[in-house]
Amino acid sequence: MADSAPRRLTVLGATGSIGQSTLDVVARHPDRFEVFALSAQRQHDKLFAQCLQFAPRYAVMGDAAAADALARALRGAGSATEVLCGDAALEAIAAASEVDMVMAAIVGAAGLRPTLAAARTGKKVLLANKEALVLSGQLFMDAVRQGGATLLPIDSEHNAIFQALPADYARRPDAAGVRRVLLTASGGPFRTAPLESLAAVTPEQACAHPNWVMGRKISVDSATMMNKGLEVIEAHWLFGAPADMIEVVVHPQSVIHSMVDYADGSVIAQLGNPDMRTPIAHAMAWPERIEAGVRPLDLFAIARLDFERPDLARFPCLRLAFEALRAGGAAPAVLNAANEEAVAAFLNHRIGFLDIPAVISACLERSASQAVDSLDAVFAADACARDWARSEISQRSVSR
Ligand code: NAD
Ligand code: MG
Repeated sequence: MADSAPRRLTVLGATGSIGQSTLDVVARHPDRFEVFALSAQRQHDKLFAQCLQFAPRYAVMGDAAAADALARALRGAGSATEVLCGDAALEAIAAASEVDMVMAAIVGAAGLRPTLAAARTGKKVLLANKEALVLSGQLFMDAVRQGGATLLPIDSEHNAIFQALPADYARRPDAAGVRRVLLTASGGPFRTAPLESLAAVTPEQACAHPNWVMGRKISVDSATMMNKGLEVIEAHWLFGAPADMIEVVVHPQSVIHSMVDYADGSVIAQLGNPDMRTPIAHAMAWPERIEAGVRPLDLFAIARLDFERPDLARFPCLRLAFEALRAGGAAPAVLNAANEEAVAAFLNHRIGFLDIPAVISACLERSASQAVDSLDAVFAADACARDWARSEISQRSVSR
């Protein structure tokens, strides 16, 4: 039982997979959490139902027509929730002084500005939106420090590493004796598929993940293993780990969510069923623990855990991400933007599955290694990479 007033929460991307799991945890603990604001891009029906259940003060929609539809529906239902629209409103609900915690669960670079707003205003930032951190790297970490924010990872791997690190790691990283960070990866739906079959993979096949139910973009990222590549860059920033300290371990059962290897030979792992409500509840209640609706881990039913090295010939996106991290400067922003464009084009049947790494690689080759020392420079690199990617995509879609 919480011994203080409920923490007030804004959920950015409330209608998505992470947003819905977050609200599931909130609903289990009405004494601990209170919803201040919810946001979504277009799905006004889903946001309407969430507004009725959680009665937030504000609901923000990205799309103007969807905002109108939501406002009409809420008025009709006698709801007091105020509907707002657009980027400034999104930043406002992340930065509002009444807010204690912000769940950053928008997909892609679109989540960067509101997540930064939460960091700058010293919130407890629950970070699912890995693309925001990949895109802005040091700038994001600086905003967290300067704003006095508490940054807690929601990505299951990073949440596992956070749990496996000592509590004072951020203050005394050198004393911790960390040798390696071991990021586990399921290998996605095509880990063992014949290589010749990958060219003809459909979006539906790519989105059918063996262990996790997720949004479509991250599902494709898992199938290409770009998701793990983005997570390598995410781990670099969250834990101050250079590329050489981060190792990817393919673990098809998705039971070990990641590990830390220490100088004395100890390896500390975090295990659990693959259910995002575990890292969400962990971060929301931290440093306490709460019930998350997740069934207990049945080790006897699992019986065995397997490990493999990642196959970089099968998954070139993982290699490209390591290269972008080592190159630094604008390269991670270019990698992320080119990937977002390529994945969207793949989901729209404009390019094939194997065109995704080809488009990203072509964009990285064009990118200069300039520093990105301001938000404007980040968005310029992002916009430039999207132009390159769109032209690569149109060439490839013509030749299909
Ligand atoms: P999703 O596609 O299910 O949901 C995305 C949410 O963002 C929706 O609410 C949508 O309305 C909103 N949104 C989309 N485009 C937007 C835009 N341009 N502006 C404002 N809002 C927009 O995605 P998801 O699977 O919930 O993933 C969300 C984030 O969490 C991603 O960054 C993903 O990498 C990360 N993540 C997800 C999982 C998972 O299990 N789903 C696990 C780890 C990390
Ligand atoms: Mg993950």
